[in-house]
Amino acid sequence: MALAEETAIDLGAMTQATAALDEIRAMVRPCIQCGTCTGSCPNEFAMDLTPRHMWRLVLLGRTEEVLASRTFSLCSACYLCSLRCPRGLPLTEAMGRLKQLAARRRLPHLRSGNLFYRNFIASVRRHGRVREMEFMSLYFAQMMNPWLPLRYAGMGMRLLRRGKVELRLPSRGSGRLVNLFDKVAEMESRS
Ligand code: SF4
Ligand code: SF4
Repeated sequence: MALAEETAIDLGAMTQATAALDEIRAMVRPCIQCGTCTGSCPNEFAMDLTPRHMWRLVLLGRTEEVLASRTFSLCSACYLCSLRCPRGLPLTEAMGRLKQLAARRRLPHLRSGNLFYRNFIASVRRHGRVREMEFMSLYFAQMMNPWLPLRYAGMGMRLLRRGKVELRLPSRGSGRLVNLFDKVAEMESRS
């Protein structure tokens, strides 16, 4: 691909990201930087930016810095910050919007989490529930890191011994939830 073409695509993606970030900025505009969200967040210890700091960067329109962060990808949607924010801001929804934005842009530093999530959801879509061994096998294959399964081997063996996961061959599944998933995708594409 020609350099000019690549640059045009990058600029286009960045313009889209900036527009999406504008919508998120509107959601957190009344933020008074009190830090209650940071103090409430159970995952803050693992985040590179505190939630308060990240909302500040969103308000300043610093798209690159926001998307370079892992903070929103570590949000477990517990809603504590939303419940406690003195301005009543929809912070969990705003975190979700940042996750969607990052997933669409397929950011390299969030690739592992995105692949994990996509394979998890694909398994639920196929079978109506998650099949752990199947979805982890597909995740490992897509990560293309031969050492990765070793990291999970101990936990996998313990879960197998306790009957928490079962070994089954991959299959197409019952597809009982396919219509539901398609409906949600259609609704999301309209919003
Ligand atoms: S709790 Fe609400 S007002 Fe306070 S810093 Fe967080 S987002 Fe801003
Ligand atoms: S919803 Fe997300 S950001 Fe808010 S407190 Fe929970 S984990 Fe933290």
